[in-house]
Amino acid sequence: MAIGDGTRAVRAGLPDPEKYAPTLPGPVFAAHYHLPGDPTGPYTYGRDENPTWTLLEQAIGELEAPATRPGEPVETVAFASGMAAISAVLFSQLRAGDAVVLPSDGYQALPLARERLEAYGVEVRTAPTGDDAQLSVLDGARLLWLETPSNPGLDVCDIRRLTDAAHDAGALVAVDNTLATSLGQRPLELGADFSVASDTKGLTGHGDILLGHVSGRDPLRMAEVRRWRKIAGAIPGPMEAWLAHRSLATLALRVDRQCATALTLAEALRGRADVTGLRHPGLPDDPSHPVASRQMRRFGSVVSFVLPDRDRAERFLAALRLVDDATSFGGVRSTAERRGRWGGDAVPEGFIRFSVGAEDPQDLVADVLRALDEAAESDK
Ligand SMILES: *Cc1c(COP(=O)(O)O)cnc(C)c1O
Repeated sequence: MAIGDGTRAVRAGLPDPEKYAPTLPGPVFAAHYHLPGDPTGPYTYGRDENPTWTLLEQAIGELEAPATRPGEPVETVAFASGMAAISAVLFSQLRAGDAVVLPSDGYQALPLARERLEAYGVEVRTAPTGDDAQLSVLDGARLLWLETPSNPGLDVCDIRRLTDAAHDAGALVAVDNTLATSLGQRPLELGADFSVASDTKGLTGHGDILLGHVSGRDPLRMAEVRRWRKIAGAIPGPMEAWLAHRSLATLALRVDRQCATALTLAEALRGRADVTGLRHPGLPDDPSHPVASRQMRRFGSVVSFVLPDRDRAERFLAALRLVDDATSFGGVRSTAERRGRWGGDAVPEGFIRFSVGAEDPQDLVADVLRALDEAAESDK
């Protein structure tokens, strides 16, 4: 019988029990290792490998691995941040003359990566995530980059359908799995070549570290990704890697609570006259729901909606007592922000990206409804 996600999460990546050793060995702080003779072992210099990364990579690999193909090896490389992980795939896999398809509504640093890729002679095409629109610009591409659900719009694309089409056309597929986390969606199981995430968000979940990872099935491609980390030096600190591994033990608890409360909050917002454009893939009537319910195992902790204007949105955020006005998402403490303040995302001025934390659902919903009422009141 397959074991459950909570069980897998608490045991992921633990070394075999050894008498008098801790269950999860502490962080190894080393710039170099004792190295007499020829440098053959895995641990030579601190930019290449670190035992704390090795355990974390093993752990994340266990969670990303396709449950439908048990025993199939999955390799994972940990990075200093989500952007380090994204850059590692883009810049290790693409050469001058290649074409890459990016989402037009993806993470806000993708346009920065686009500039760099174009400067290196890579052709960059974009299309929106919704309606699998990236299919229409796939012809002749070397790499298809998906972000589903997309941040912040929460559109979803069909990973299996796009991956099959991309593979038929000779393209590789990478999926930014940040919003769903490794327990919410398994891109490798859906056929993707790379599953990439910012573990700054839900995977570590406490809003206190930056981290990223790339998981993949092809050892040669993953060796290229690993080599890129060595070249760019985009390595995680051992303390961050250890904290991430420690946090994995509560991943199932956290995402179950956060995803359930996100749906509760979305349902409480539905039908309010001051809330439009409400999106959450778990809402049965959300445009993302049909595909999301086929390919996602949990719908994520983010809810987005639009308030009438910028002022109303700012008053709402200021009136919240249990929710911090802050960027990022996936943490145990709820945060919300007016996304338009950054520029770059094609969202209305009153667009709110709300990240649901681990608070008691009734407290959170009450705080949000009260803040909405107060923000509307001072409009009069
Ligand atoms: C935050 C985020 C990133 C970037 O991750 P960092 O850890 O901040 O570098 C990439 N993709 C998505 C979808 C994100 O939300």
